[in-house]
Amino acid sequence: MTAVEQRAVDVRAASTVSVTIDGHQVSVPEGTTIFDAAREVGVDIPVLCHNERYDPVGVCRMCVVDTGGRVFAAACVRPCEDGMEVKTATEEVERSRAVLTELLMSDQPPRAEDPKDTTTRDNLLLGLADGFGVARETTELPRGAGHSGSGRGKDSSNPVIDVDHDACILCDRCVRACDDIQGNDVIGRSGKGYSTRIAFDLDDPMGASSCVTCGECVQACPTGALTNKSIRGIPIRPREELDAVDSVCPYCGVGCALTYYVDRERGAISFAEGRDQPGSQSRLCVKGRYGWDYSASPQRLTVPLIRIDSAYPKGPLSADVRGDSDTGAGYNDRGRVNGGGNRSGGGRKDGRPGKDRGRKPGGLVDYDEVMPFFREATWDEALDLVARRLREIHTAGGPGAIAGFGSAKCSNEEAYLFQKLIRTGFGTNNVDHCTRLCHASSVFALFEGVGSGAVSTTYGDVVNADCVIITGSNPTANHPVASSFFKQARRRGTKVVYVDPRASTVAEHADIFVQLKPGTDVAFYNAVMHEIIRLGLVDREFIANRTSNYDELARTVADYPPERAAQITGVDADTIREVARTWGEAGAAVVYWGMGISQHTTGTDNARCLIALCSITGNVGRPGTGLHPLRGQNNVQGASDAGLVPMFYPGYQGVDVEKIRLRFEEAWGTALDPKRGLTVTEIIKSALEPDGVRGMYMLGENPFLSDPNINKVRKALSALDFLVVQDIFLTETAEFADVILPATSYLEKDGTYTNTDRRVQLGRKVMDPPGQARPDWVIVQDIARRVGLDWSYGGPSEVFDEMVALVPAYRNLRYDNLGLSGKLYPNADPEHTDGTVVMFDERFNTDDGLAHLVPAQWLPAKELPDAEYPLVLNTGRLLEHWHTGSMTRRSFALDAISPVAEVYMHPKDAADRGLAHGETARVRSRRGTIELLVRVSHREQLGNCFIPFHFREAAANLLTIDEIDPYGKIPEFKFCAVQVEPVGVRA
Ligand code: SF4
Ligand code: SF4
Repeated sequence: MTAVEQRAVDVRAASTVSVTIDGHQVSVPEGTTIFDAAREVGVDIPVLCHNERYDPVGVCRMCVVDTGGRVFAAACVRPCEDGMEVKTATEEVERSRAVLTELLMSDQPPRAEDPKDTTTRDNLLLGLADGFGVARETTELPRGAGHSGSGRGKDSSNPVIDVDHDACILCDRCVRACDDIQGNDVIGRSGKGYSTRIAFDLDDPMGASSCVTCGECVQACPTGALTNKSIRGIPIRPREELDAVDSVCPYCGVGCALTYYVDRERGAISFAEGRDQPGSQSRLCVKGRYGWDYSASPQRLTVPLIRIDSAYPKGPLSADVRGDSDTGAGYNDRGRVNGGGNRSGGGRKDGRPGKDRGRKPGGLVDYDEVMPFFREATWDEALDLVARRLREIHTAGGPGAIAGFGSAKCSNEEAYLFQKLIRTGFGTNNVDHCTRLCHASSVFALFEGVGSGAVSTTYGDVVNADCVIITGSNPTANHPVASSFFKQARRRGTKVVYVDPRASTVAEHADIFVQLKPGTDVAFYNAVMHEIIRLGLVDREFIANRTSNYDELARTVADYPPERAAQITGVDADTIREVARTWGEAGAAVVYWGMGISQHTTGTDNARCLIALCSITGNVGRPGTGLHPLRGQNNVQGASDAGLVPMFYPGYQGVDVEKIRLRFEEAWGTALDPKRGLTVTEIIKSALEPDGVRGMYMLGENPFLSDPNINKVRKALSALDFLVVQDIFLTETAEFADVILPATSYLEKDGTYTNTDRRVQLGRKVMDPPGQARPDWVIVQDIARRVGLDWSYGGPSEVFDEMVALVPAYRNLRYDNLGLSGKLYPNADPEHTDGTVVMFDERFNTDDGLAHLVPAQWLPAKELPDAEYPLVLNTGRLLEHWHTGSMTRRSFALDAISPVAEVYMHPKDAADRGLAHGETARVRSRRGTIELLVRVSHREQLGNCFIPFHFREAAANLLTIDEIDPYGKIPEFKFCAVQVEPVGVRA
């Protein structure tokens, strides 16, 4: 909670005072500032340093008012007093403001021909100057050094943000935005007297500092000292000249609300800004604010494509995807050492590799290499071919020969239609999506434990928690806006316990950082529960009334005293005890977890432990308590809700439960497959079998990069008789396609999306699609009609209504009652309420209403390090990139900030291998080899390394193991054995 929020709470609890403001009488709670009271009676007081989102500091004095005292009072910080008479616009007050404005203007730098040439014309200072008739060029005051341009300097080192120190008035709004809102603590001040200026870290250039380019400071700046640069040459124009389209960020599950400002003349986005919504509160991270230009990439698919005859027998087409690249730091599956790319020069001042260093030319698919294997087709020809081939395969091989991968990037409506097509058009439940690769194990454990796969509370509910465990997650990189709420909660006093093998930035914001060995979560949490039980910190009433199977759980964790767990986890026993006491003594405690928990062969067991930990301490069902697996993709929650999984119809209703199947057969008017379908990993395996899956429809998924053990995926995709890929770019997976269908991007269509909090929001069409690209739901419907389904949906709202009728949790939601902020589900009255934050206040969704405690024994990972492969590889995401990089690597800002693949290594591990920061290393596992740059990082544990999986030229999943969790069927992306060595060493 910021001081602003705390003050609001204090104010609500206080008694009232009466004041008169410009003749208007008003009663306000004690503690209310004059500025806030004035707004209540419709009096606007000008400000520069103040903004309601930040703690007031009263430094600029623009808001001074006359309270009858000896000196004017700063309205933004001065509390109202009973009987106070306030005059906000006397002649003297106005003169004071005008003089202040003139003084500030005298030192403003000259700007281009348009006197209002700021990025958005939001420049408050210029607005005030206009109001007071102070022209920058005509002021009588002596010019400051800033005006002559010889003052405090400019900084263009960030790819998308310009800093003009001379335009800065040191109002500290950016400092407060960076510290108090985003919790990044990058901006401060340096210098003395006139040379004082804002500083990034130790007065580093912004682009070389620890700035994460969230742009919150730009949104805060009232003078144009911090401005957005134009992206792709689209000028940033005043917002009144642009079209504002309210939508939602297309990247992560946080689902931040934003507004795109669209230049209709140029048919392009000019800039984006966060907008208010209960979950994100106008915040954005670098991806949401600057990562939207992928949709304007010249590499967009714009016309249907059919593989030419000479491109058979099928297989990968580019050197990267074939695995025999000879143009740079590529990879292969035979251990052959590839030739080097540009491996010299380009180093940055901060020691990180420069943009071009070691970068394989392109880093993206080379269309000249792949396109010759396809020919353009009409939509009718392509769709007819898709329908015919899928029907033929279905006829020859039966329902089991067909499978579909949908996408968690698509809308709820598209997910719903896609699964309905596979189920009703081909009679199979072989339909899945990338939830299998992120939280399938969490969902399995949650269903088993509490009867619902969704979160039990929101990430914003951390504000009500005394203690939070963040585990197996790197939210500052993967859920940045959610992490800003965690950081704020800590400032307010919430104890943060961070449990992770990597010392990510979150560790710096933690009260207790537990750096456990990878794959030892069950042992750790069993020991924490052991200690909680020993100390008597369990909630006996909750256990007795709201849970089952406690005795068996207690027996299991009795075998995990902290000393034993210390041997397994590498965490000392006292730290385990400290965590147990901190959690056990908290009045309200909540756990947020990520894929470090779920992406293990023991992922379900890991999640079971977290459910048990919350349940035995009564930490579910109240504000500030609960279970929250932070969902990855923007719509992975919604796609799962919509039934894009092989074991559930929409609303998690089991396909193998007869009465449910009969209900869906009635709703959809056709017979349905009574058996569970295959999961993502099982479908890939099945494609390698002669009687397995032969035909696939791939909508927006890119398993070639996202699935484990790419060599196996390559064989599976090559073995398919027919593959249709529907996407916005020619992905690595599309190289195996018979037909490629060009779809619209997120920005070119309407639809609903459900975020990690269960918030269902509207994504709105921002611009027209390129070429002949069509919305995914239209393409799915076109194929459905061609395979004989009688579909005639007129648009997403019709589809949404049909889905809502079948998904109990979505009851009462309608396309037209979601509003600008969306609604949480469940929601009894969406017209009047935001929805349910805390679930399970009285009973769980299980059949008996109880939380089912499922004990778990610790099991080691499937592939342990040995002499030949001595390091543990962990894979994951970077802040700037998303999934297989198809969007983010085509975003100017995101690619500029994070252009190359790197292996993150502990300094000693690197030194032991003769590897220095920025050098090229070869990483090999039992499954393959890649080459990429070394990043020496104090965040890695000795004996472990980390590789992000976004980079096709160094695909981490060539190394990963395809062992899966037996329940959730999720692969073990977080643990396999590798060796890292200089490229000169023979493999
Ligand atoms: S850069 Fe802008 S927001 Fe930051 S202190 Fe200067 S004027 Fe204020
Ligand atoms: S936190 Fe997630 S939803 Fe929000 S702006 Fe960043 S990527 Fe988008």
